[in-house]
Amino acid sequence: MATKYVYFFGGGKADGKGTMKDLLGGKGAGLAEMTNAGVPVPPGFTITTDVCRYYYANKQKLPKELEAQQKAAMDKLQKIMKKGFGDPKNPLLVSVRSGAKFSMPGMMDTILNLGISEKVTAGLSELTGNERFAWDAYRRFIQMYGNVVAGIEKSDFEHVLEAQKHKRNIKQDTELTVSDLKEVVANYLKVYEKHTGESFPQDPWKQLEGARNAVFKSWNNPRAIYYRKQNKIDDNLGTAVNVQSMVFGNMGDDSATGVGFTRNPSTGNKEFYGEYLTNAQGEDVVAGIRTPRPIVHLGEDIPQAYKELRAITAQLEKKYRDVQDFEFTIEKGRLFMLQTRTGKRTAAAAVKIAVDMVKEKLITKEEALMRVEPEALDQLLHPVIDPKAQLKVIAKGLAASPGAATGRAVFDADSAAERGGKEPVILIRQETNPDDIHGMDAAKGILTARGGMTSHAAVVARGMGRPCVAGCEEIKVSEADKTFRINGTTVKENDWVTIDGSTGRVILGQVPLIDPEISGEFGVFMGWADATRKLKVRANADIPRDAKVAREFGAEGIGLCRTEHMFFAEDRLPFMQQMIVATDVEARKAALAKLLPFQKEDFVGLFREMKGYPVTIRLIDPPLHEFLPKTKEDAEVLSKKIGVPTEKIMQAAEELHEFNPMLGHRGCRLGITYPEITEMQTKAIIGAACDLAKEGIKVVPEIMIPLVGNISELKDQKDVITRIADATIKEAGAKVQYMVGTMIEVPRAAVTADQIAQEAEFFSFGTNDLTQMTLGFSRDDAGKFIKVYLDKKIFKEDPFQTLDQIGVGQLMDGAVKKGRGVKKDLKCGICGEHGGDPASVKFCHRIGLNYVSCSPFRVPIARLSAAQAVIESKAKSGSGYSMK
Ligand code: ADP
Ligand code: MG
Ligand code: MG
Repeated sequence: MATKYVYFFGGGKADGKGTMKDLLGGKGAGLAEMTNAGVPVPPGFTITTDVCRYYYANKQKLPKELEAQQKAAMDKLQKIMKKGFGDPKNPLLVSVRSGAKFSMPGMMDTILNLGISEKVTAGLSELTGNERFAWDAYRRFIQMYGNVVAGIEKSDFEHVLEAQKHKRNIKQDTELTVSDLKEVVANYLKVYEKHTGESFPQDPWKQLEGARNAVFKSWNNPRAIYYRKQNKIDDNLGTAVNVQSMVFGNMGDDSATGVGFTRNPSTGNKEFYGEYLTNAQGEDVVAGIRTPRPIVHLGEDIPQAYKELRAITAQLEKKYRDVQDFEFTIEKGRLFMLQTRTGKRTAAAAVKIAVDMVKEKLITKEEALMRVEPEALDQLLHPVIDPKAQLKVIAKGLAASPGAATGRAVFDADSAAERGGKEPVILIRQETNPDDIHGMDAAKGILTARGGMTSHAAVVARGMGRPCVAGCEEIKVSEADKTFRINGTTVKENDWVTIDGSTGRVILGQVPLIDPEISGEFGVFMGWADATRKLKVRANADIPRDAKVAREFGAEGIGLCRTEHMFFAEDRLPFMQQMIVATDVEARKAALAKLLPFQKEDFVGLFREMKGYPVTIRLIDPPLHEFLPKTKEDAEVLSKKIGVPTEKIMQAAEELHEFNPMLGHRGCRLGITYPEITEMQTKAIIGAACDLAKEGIKVVPEIMIPLVGNISELKDQKDVITRIADATIKEAGAKVQYMVGTMIEVPRAAVTADQIAQEAEFFSFGTNDLTQMTLGFSRDDAGKFIKVYLDKKIFKEDPFQTLDQIGVGQLMDGAVKKGRGVKKDLKCGICGEHGGDPASVKFCHRIGLNYVSCSPFRVPIARLSAAQAVIESKAKSGSGYSMK
């Protein structure tokens, strides 16, 4: 049997149905579904997306069966409408509308009134007794067809129209008389001829062919390609074409056209929402020629049709069990529906609507949980840019830490720290380093020109919940001049700058922000997620304050406390530095002894904040040179503080210099070469736990060794830890349990997980390093080429943002299995940035991890993703919720 390329709808039934979005596009499927449901829809037919794919696969040729199928559909349409396509006495006019599976603003504009010509216009005048209407319809058609099919600038036509209005000294289009319109048409035709070298097509079939093919062509126009890239829509889906008989909202005051939502899409409130214009056609509402009125007034203007519209849209919402975004036209008091689709909404509205619909028994809790994009919850937790604001976007970087911030530009951390208390500032750096933390903390937001999603700025900002745009390579930062440049614009210190860390936008000037508002529905919703999920969700937090935020967002423990962040604080850094420049064990021990009380105090605070929840503490990880001064001046300052000659400090820094520090002297290699560091850290951790145990607060610290690749490394460090821990407990006379485990972040550790598990009491996948080492991509440098990889579609996603499930994920899956083969109940978690990425969280559920750990502000996102993972796997196994 020949392929069916054309699907008819009308006369009470349709060939297609609502589930056929892939083939008919969203619009076509909706028109079919409404027709089948008895909703008044102007009849027509849909040419499938198969034809579009064929068109691109076959050098822009169409399947030969199409012509006949299209002709048959048009015959049927003429019969139902009792009108003839191109028949001047009783003309059938149609619209030609594009419609892909997903609604795509970049696609071709709809052409209305197709089938009209000089002769038809005359016939239409007679038939309707409305000459003005007929000529206006013709005028509009030439304009739309000329623009969309022949590619003539809209302004070329608008000039003609404006000239006519000017000549007649009138303001509104509606004031144009029949003879004005005739003149305009004559001039439009000239514009068309001049531009194309041909006369305007009078044959309706030629018009149809032109419009139809233009729809297919528009699938690959730059706007559409860009939109698909932004929204990760597959380029091979193709678009359908809908040919639909016209109804006219511009036939007088009992006619109208409008758009609306069954509930308020920005608040989620259950109220009829939308706008309309009387005596207007299609695009007039959105084009802003006249100001449309709020839809409730339609009840006063055309009461019967309004009543019917309320009833039909309520029926549609029930049928689709979701908010509908609809378009309608009223022709002489008669209502027609032209489109219905799932309404886009803000995150706040999504949560409210989901919860309300469960209460209304329209959907189940599981469906409600699937209705909200986990990523969208971010909008609820951070300030966002007022959607009404006019923005001057000057650059785009990585959306490194969500939320928007507006403030005055400062270019060094000290100024940020100093001024940040008094006024909003944005800290702008080439890249940040640990010396900048105080400035980052005082700033409203952070902007860097270099570094990826796991760069220092990104990681620290996320932990603080500070908006951050990182790796904005387009801007040229000069920290010396205190400026940055972008495309001829120079931004100086004190200039207002706004960043949007949720999208990566950098905006010039001060912009109004809207503070997050967490509604009661949010709590209810998250409660459902918690009841559904299997994965525990912990947070990455290094200091008591971050731990507090994490708890507020629902974290059930700390999955990663990076102890080195404790050493960067101003009151500790000098001792840390003293320890590093020490040339013998004794001097090192002396410096460490000074650090001990600080560390212990930090852990006491952290344990207290986490109130009995598990806390995983990673022993020191970064290369030591990161702690040392970078310039001679800084070395001099330090020299005075710690009484070590400047030259010695400089020399130590020199000696610690590494060509590739990421693969250098770091992680467990530090503890192995300097066991006294591990000893001190263990004393601090276990000492803190003992103190709390005496207060009756139970904590089970999980001590984690970084960068292990070999079981012997783990064993070496574990021996030190056990020895010190047991002694500390004994000395304190307390009862404390603790665990010793390891990061799995070196591929060798993953591959030999069965050996490692013999010593490790838990695994935590450090997927930042594991990704770096598995792919061989430096995470600090990858920003540069990953962009190209994404553009060229070599990668679909940035592997530092969303887990490379096939590669890195395979290592994880294998390691879990190997580990649990040795220790059945081995606790496994993830603490890389991926722990807060929805797709990665779902993967972690599937491979059976016990928990994910992410930055505090991503905790709600992880909670929802974990719940969705359960629902999705249930659906896959065929039990419960079905995915549509
Ligand atoms: P978009 O996807 O840009 O909304 P549409 O094809 O849905 O494009 O519609 C553009 C405008 O034209 C809408 O206002 C719609 O209601 C109107 N329209 C489309 N087809 C018809 C028709 N057959 N009769 C009357 N108006 C129509
Ligand atoms: Mg539409
Ligand atoms: Mg690591």
